[in-house]
Amino acid sequence: MPSSCNDKMYELGVAGSSIRVLFAYGQQRKAQIGADKVYDFSLGNPSVPAPAKVRQAILEVLDEPSLQLHGYTASPGAASTRAAIAASLNRRFGTSYQPDNLYLTMGAAAALDASIRAVVDPGDEVICIAPFFPEYQMWIEAAGCTSVRSMADADMQPDVDDIASRITERTRAVIVDSPNNPTGAVYPRERLERLAEALRAASERIGRTIYLIADEPYREVVYDGIEVPWIPSIYPDTIVCYSYSKSLSLPGERIGYVLVPDTMPAWREVFAAVAGAGRTLGYVCAPSLIQQVVERCVDEPTDVAAYAANRAALTEGLSKIGYEYVEPQGAFYLWMKALEPDAKRFSERAKAHELLIVPSDDFGMTGYVRIGYCVSHDTIVNSMPAFQALYDEYRA
Ligand code: PLP
Repeated sequence: MPSSCNDKMYELGVAGSSIRVLFAYGQQRKAQIGADKVYDFSLGNPSVPAPAKVRQAILEVLDEPSLQLHGYTASPGAASTRAAIAASLNRRFGTSYQPDNLYLTMGAAAALDASIRAVVDPGDEVICIAPFFPEYQMWIEAAGCTSVRSMADADMQPDVDDIASRITERTRAVIVDSPNNPTGAVYPRERLERLAEALRAASERIGRTIYLIADEPYREVVYDGIEVPWIPSIYPDTIVCYSYSKSLSLPGERIGYVLVPDTMPAWREVFAAVAGAGRTLGYVCAPSLIQQVVERCVDEPTDVAAYAANRAALTEGLSKIGYEYVEPQGAFYLWMKALEPDAKRFSERAKAHELLIVPSDDFGMTGYVRIGYCVSHDTIVNSMPAFQALYDEYRA
């Protein structure tokens, strides 16, 4: 470890995530043998272009006075943008949110980091349902807290009894992510109601509120008209972390929000704490130009047709070969059983067939791989012989 810097930060900086490492390998490999010969399912970068309305809105806002367009906004975001988002949510969910319930952030990542820091004290515990988005653990630990793992059930749904059994006097929050990365599961209303009931009872028992932090960047990426329940209407002590990275295909623009609903008894305090956490993290305000773009695009529908077609081709192809997987209901990931217990080794052997699939270990579970199907349809179709060859190798 160098003495010139912070050990932990150094470690986080050099390690990188296994997803990014695999992606970097893919870039290298594509340069060597040609992009069409590498089947890169590593990353969660949307493969559907942003809606035409986004381009139109960007061109429109460029006509605004520069000082206004590129200047700082209020720390929680421009009032007009927050009003447009609140109105859109109210139309969709029958709520009565005000701009003051919204704090705009640089994507869901910043929203989550600020929300976690807003409610925890050092030494607290935050429960994550495995498999989970790997960054949760880092944010929880950076806030001086412990991440407590609760394994999902066989259908990759929250195991409410297990979550309840892990609650202690130090539990401050549970993070839920539905539609889920990495499994594609969508949590049904009944399961969320049971979870809410368990959290209410436990909050009463330990004498302080246990918050639900709902990580929802994939809220609109769902198939077959499946319901994505509005969690604050089930459990009022829910903080919603949202992003336009996936719904409007804008991951590089870094725009999202924290919603602290007005139905939460302590919403004013929690909202102030989110803003305070944002200050300590140096957020200042979310990027101004894209705030104005989002303001004009809040009701733009998410185009899931291409992901749905990819999902159909992938599930059909893999089940024909004989792979086992969790039927994805949302997001653009497929959670597939590795053909051996060691998912890292399985992923390595897949690499030899130019298949880049992420081992489950970093998501807090063993024995699976994540296949990100936010790729071209041709990639899915052309990768099938490689999936077949990998399968045959194990059966030989
Ligand atoms: N949460 C989940 C589950 C994600 O998959 C991602 C990104 O892939 C994020 C949060 C972070 O999203 P953003 O790009 O909006 O920061």
